[in-house]
Amino acid sequence: MIHTQGLTMERAQAELQKYYGYPDFREGQKHIVASLLQGGDTLGIMPTGGGKSICYQVPALLLPGLTLVVSPLISLMKDQVDALTTAGIPAAYINSTLSGKEANDRLRAARRGELKLLYVAPERLELDWFRMEMAELPISLVAVDEAHCVSQWGHDFRTSYLSVSPFVDGLPERPIVAAFTATATPEVMEDIVRLLRLRDPGVFVTGLGRDNLAMSVLRGENKREFVLDYAASHSQEPGIIYAATRKEVDDLYQRLSAAGVPAGRYHAGMSDEDRAANQEAFLYDDIRVIAATNAFGMGIDKSNVRYVIHYNMPKNMEAYVQEAGRAGRDGEPSSCILLFSAQDIMTQKFLIEQNPQDSERKQNDYRKLQQMIDYCYTTRCLRSAMLDYFGEEHDDAPCGKCSSCTDDRELVDITVEAQKIFSCIHRMRERFGVALVASVLKGSRSQKVLQYGFDKLPTHGALSAKTEKEITEIINVLISEGYLALSEGQYPIVRLQLPAADVLKGQAQVVQRVARAAKSGGSSRS
Ligand code: ADP
Ligand code: ZN
Repeated sequence: MIHTQGLTMERAQAELQKYYGYPDFREGQKHIVASLLQGGDTLGIMPTGGGKSICYQVPALLLPGLTLVVSPLISLMKDQVDALTTAGIPAAYINSTLSGKEANDRLRAARRGELKLLYVAPERLELDWFRMEMAELPISLVAVDEAHCVSQWGHDFRTSYLSVSPFVDGLPERPIVAAFTATATPEVMEDIVRLLRLRDPGVFVTGLGRDNLAMSVLRGENKREFVLDYAASHSQEPGIIYAATRKEVDDLYQRLSAAGVPAGRYHAGMSDEDRAANQEAFLYDDIRVIAATNAFGMGIDKSNVRYVIHYNMPKNMEAYVQEAGRAGRDGEPSSCILLFSAQDIMTQKFLIEQNPQDSERKQNDYRKLQQMIDYCYTTRCLRSAMLDYFGEEHDDAPCGKCSSCTDDRELVDITVEAQKIFSCIHRMRERFGVALVASVLKGSRSQKVLQYGFDKLPTHGALSAKTEKEITEIINVLISEGYLALSEGQYPIVRLQLPAADVLKGQAQVVQRVARAAKSGGSSRS
């Protein structure tokens, strides 16, 4: 048992003030620090920029002995340690960039009790000599950064994370173990607890809905025009534009440059030098905007990014929140804009199919993709929708600044359309996908419709006044709102859900937001 008597939050706050100059912990940090000061294993879920470093650095100052920080990014260790040293906190790192002598000097400093924090990469924990060295030291806390790397469900599994737990078991006295990640899905959280063998941990999900971020989902935009206009009219502000492919990144980069916006680009197809140059230029504000694939951003610490635009829908909410969360790390108002088109769904499905993996994993990818699509179609407050997805507690008040909250487009009653759709799906015996349902409602006489005899259904052509695209949009809204559900897999089947019953019985209303300009039959000619 690590001795934690007398470690109060008052003392923690005093250290925070003394070394960092901050008057108080952020709300999320408070719970995590308190949990660690009570000696409890702790899992902290925080977005990038949420301030997780302080969550283990301040306890490290108060706890006896040494805190070992396991961090996957060698490139970041030096920055972290430099910052600590500048603040007057004795810290060091040991990694492959050091000579044997340098590493030895630091180990000796640790043995003399001159260090409070020691940073290492997980691979080091696999080395016998290192484990033996560590067993000689009074380690109170092991802080595992980017802990989702231990999980195969995460996006960057690292085998060496599996050695954290045996390493901890090999220490003469079991330290407190703290794990941090920005990935908050239940599978990943379970894996972290299980594979790092956290003991009855306090789990704290915080700060995903940072108040300074205005979230938007825009459907049906001309994406290219939107991006060019936006970047041009925000040319003084740093921004990131994420696109799905290298080709799109190159294209955006060229168009931005041609439009006179100082732009950069970043993707895995460029040379290391080229990438580094673009990244530097962005960090130092030589260029304002960077077009990039999701290869860009891991470990980038630029606090004044004012907007993140997603040119394509990402594969899941975790990826989205991680990338969008690179906006506004300094707490200033910033925008996260997702440009959605139905083509994005096709692209993501294609990518899932391309990826060789077992069927369980594939199902999981499809389920997450569907949740991402639901987010794109919801009419609810986007902040609430996002926090619900990650299971973070929040008040029910709408945020007042997301694209749902500020949407002044008309709410149109689509109850009748919904009834027709539900009834049609029921008559088709809930065995087909969205496209076929839409074409039956449209009144199509395609071969497939005729082959199944769906042209004989009373709902055949029930929405013939609409285009199949409009019908599909309505069905997507109904899925997002939980009236309908899709089965998993490449060719999902659309099925009725319980809430649809009330709508069919005329006991509940359904609404959809419709752009004013798109409304036909306008009578307001002046
Ligand atoms: P993370 O490691 O989660 O990405 P950091 O620990 O780097 O985040 O913190 C992000 C930023 O927030 C840093 O600039 C940090 O100084 C600042 N910060 C963290 N905690 C506080 C606090 N309690 N008060 C004010 N600023 C804070
Ligand atoms: Zn909102």
